[in-house]
Amino acid sequence: MKAVVVHAPGDLRVEEVPEPAVPADGVLVRIIYGGICGSDLHYAKDARNGPYTVTEPLTLGHEVVGVVERVAEGVQAPPVGTRVAVHPATPTAPAGQSEPTGLHLRKGGTYLGSASTQPHTQGGLTGLLPVTAGQLRPLPDGLPLRRAVLAEPLAVALHGIARLGSRVQGARALVSGAGPIGALAVAALKHAGAAHVTAADLQTLPLQVAGKVGADTLIHLSAGESVPEEAFDVVVEAAGVLASLRTAIRAVRPGGAILQLGILPAGDLPVPLADIVAREIALFGTQRFDIELDVAVQLLAADETLAAVVTDVFDINDAQEAFARAADSSKSSKTVIRVSADPEAL
Ligand SMILES: [Zn+2]
Repeated sequence: MKAVVVHAPGDLRVEEVPEPAVPADGVLVRIIYGGICGSDLHYAKDARNGPYTVTEPLTLGHEVVGVVERVAEGVQAPPVGTRVAVHPATPTAPAGQSEPTGLHLRKGGTYLGSASTQPHTQGGLTGLLPVTAGQLRPLPDGLPLRRAVLAEPLAVALHGIARLGSRVQGARALVSGAGPIGALAVAALKHAGAAHVTAADLQTLPLQVAGKVGADTLIHLSAGESVPEEAFDVVVEAAGVLASLRTAIRAVRPGGAILQLGILPAGDLPVPLADIVAREIALFGTQRFDIELDVAVQLLAADETLAAVVTDVFDINDAQEAFARAADSSKSSKTVIRVSADPEAL
């Protein structure tokens, strides 16, 4: 079977790897689709992501869906053939339960396709993935695998928006940066009851996608349009760049809140924090997600418009091209790799 493996900065390979055995306490999932995340792009380009450095070959991918292929003897799991999204984290909150929460912030956990652990936790851009039964999230009928591949990034957006609490209900909201996570933040804001959502970006394509998933107003920054100052109750910074965070600080009203959803560069950053003090702005951090994966799956089943976020699908043999496309926000929103043939494709 094939796997998408990073070896060193700029050294991303599609390799033939041996098929894994079914784990004694779990299942094997035949992966059909895997989304490319910003963190995967960092690993592919720099062999590092934030504080985590690649020190051994790392199979990428944590946004994966597929079909249960094999279940170990005596393990309680959805039967072979069940279509599933894979929860990328361990420990994993039980499906459908709101407790225990905060597992995602506990030290020592693992995440698929991450160099945060030694040895690294190998990822899901590979034909067969061994996981525990508790990581499986069966998909509702009518939710295609190709749309379900958005479950993990949508859970990330839902978790971030949940951090803003009751501020979102009836709010005028801005999403600064309308890439895949920004577009999913637009959808999450609408779902949480925001009254009006504006999306701002430098590129046309991400704004078109944001419009399709519910943005009411689009601001095209490179077409000379600008973000109004002190005009928004909540602002979501979804680009992970300083210019966008500065825009967010200018755009939020006194007493408003900013969610830092984009991954900022590590280290000290020059940001006008005095403005946050003077205008009593609340600044929220957010990390991956907690218990939101189940809600994400339901939302994807209920809302067909979210399919618009998947703009590109590449075969696993063309993973290099797929990563190049994913890195070009003028051409793509969420780029997805087809790891195995899609049984639902026409
Ligand atoms: Zn991701």
